[in-house]
Amino acid sequence: MSDTYDPGNDLLPEDITSPDELENLMTTINTVYIDKLNKSVLVVAEQRQGRISSQSLEAIAAGQKLATSLGDECSVAILGAQGGNPAGELTRYKLNFVFAIQHGLLEHYTADAYIAALQQLIRKRVFAYVIFPHTYQVRDFAPALATRFGQVLISDVIAIHAGSDGAPTFVRQLFQGKLNADYRLTPQPASAPCFVSIQAGAFRASDLVEGKASFDTFVPALAADQIRTIPGDPFRESAHTVDLSSAAVIVSVGRGIRERENIPLVQALADALGAELAASRPICDAGWVPIERQVGSSGQTVSPKLYLAVGISGAIQHLVGMKGAKTVIAINKDENAPIFEVADYGVAGDLFEIVPALTKAIQAAKT
Ligand SMILES: Cc1cc2nc3c(=O)[nH]c(=O)nc-3n(C[C@H](O)[C@H](O)[C@H](O)COP(=O)(O)OP(=O)(O)OC[C@H]3O[C@@H](n4cnc5c(N)ncnc54)[C@H](O)[C@@H]3O)c2cc1C
Repeated sequence: MSDTYDPGNDLLPEDITSPDELENLMTTINTVYIDKLNKSVLVVAEQRQGRISSQSLEAIAAGQKLATSLGDECSVAILGAQGGNPAGELTRYKLNFVFAIQHGLLEHYTADAYIAALQQLIRKRVFAYVIFPHTYQVRDFAPALATRFGQVLISDVIAIHAGSDGAPTFVRQLFQGKLNADYRLTPQPASAPCFVSIQAGAFRASDLVEGKASFDTFVPALAADQIRTIPGDPFRESAHTVDLSSAAVIVSVGRGIRERENIPLVQALADALGAELAASRPICDAGWVPIERQVGSSGQTVSPKLYLAVGISGAIQHLVGMKGAKTVIAINKDENAPIFEVADYGVAGDLFEIVPALTKAIQAAKT
């Protein structure tokens, strides 16, 4: 949405000949303008050391889809210090505006500065929907931002669809994924923006529509005494930590592997496929695979092209972490294991026979 809204050439002032016509014109303009405002979408993307996270790209894909369904365009904002803000990279996507929200006090994340800066942008440019990736940082500040507008954050959304009146409905999971619930902002049209965070893997970054976006810099009014926290050093993950959320192929191992000594069997399969090794929680709890490789509700959420589940039963807490995978292959000796319900291909058999044979076949195919 641009600063000045142009209602078009159909409504020229010289056509107005009476006060009634002027009033009608104002009503039309207001209706069109308010309607336009009720459809604009802003995605707040996250960056770390100048790198836009893959989860942010998924949130932008969600924002684009929502805006298209509303007949409008999506804008994106990224916060950071001048010079360290990668917002310009996003102008190659089909977006209305890319806003670089820049200020020295945004160099390091603090909830107070992020809330104040976003509040100013949202009030100035007026957005009906504000979308975030559901990250730890967003969990920290977005509920408070929503409260500033008298709203709540509809968090960890897995899907968006149109309600019977055309207004968007947001789907969240309840009871560890056992139930899906629909949420929407009432009354419609709403008088304040709707704040939504998107679950990792629910939308695909590969669905991002390319195009062109206008670039704008927004400098919020921030003062050091507004910020009640002192940012510490950025969290440095251990040298072995891996970002499974951006892995294209994952081989994941579960309790079917029986003992630590057997882990190299699946590691060999992962190596042959050029895949990352992951595991279910009991395997990580036992220390057989590092904890940062755990997939599931209390581990990482992944959305690879291929997820190979080896000796994993498919408990709901595991499924919520990998259901964004494009293709799932399961190897399990129990043909009734729940993992087969989400698998595209299933092999009902003993992993100790299948995995070495598969590894050998892949290695042979590569030579
Ligand atoms: C609050 C909470 C959070 C949790 N968070 C997570 C989480 O983030 N991630 C997670 O994974 N779990 C999590 N869990 C645990 C979850 O409920 C399950 O207990 C766990 O996922 C089961 O792991 P598994 O599939 O490896 O083991 P099991 O359920 O024991 O399944 C092992 C499977 O291996 C198969 N098998 C056995 N031998 C063979 C063989 N020789 N060949 C082939 N198949 C074989 C069996 O048929 C079985 O299906 C959480 C639980 C709670 C309560």
